[in-house]
Amino acid sequence: MKSYEELLDNLYTQLPEKLKEKTRFKMPEFRSMIQGKQTIVQNFVDVAEDLRRDPKHLMKFITKETAAPCNIDGKRLIMKGRIRDRVLNDRLEAYAKEYVLCGECGKPDTTLVTQEGVTYLKCEACGGRRPVSLIK
Ligand SMILES: [Zn+2]
Repeated sequence: MKSYEELLDNLYTQLPEKLKEKTRFKMPEFRSMIQGKQTIVQNFVDVAEDLRRDPKHLMKFITKETAAPCNIDGKRLIMKGRIRDRVLNDRLEAYAKEYVLCGECGKPDTTLVTQEGVTYLKCEACGGRRPVSLIK
């Protein structure tokens, strides 16, 4: 059995690591290539997981923004049409701004919650909350 003081000590030594983890966040980037008439995003699911978002939600956004029909194949996203890497990463940044990063503290420790038909971005770091637009 550990004493209360020991438990507290453990808590404090673990805390800085967690904080470091949060400030270390780096915006992930798509790695894509054009193959014939298709564009393949090789790390699509990894990027969605880095952002802690459902790959299908991210796909819906990318489809709407690029007007290219997409489907997920394993970890990859297969898109109809040729879409340049820079365009894709630009759209990814727009997605993160709207659906991942807190508007108040800028941290990515957020979740999407739906209440009475409205979806909010809720921040776990500062408690901030703002509505986000629906992807139709
Ligand atoms: Zn926040």
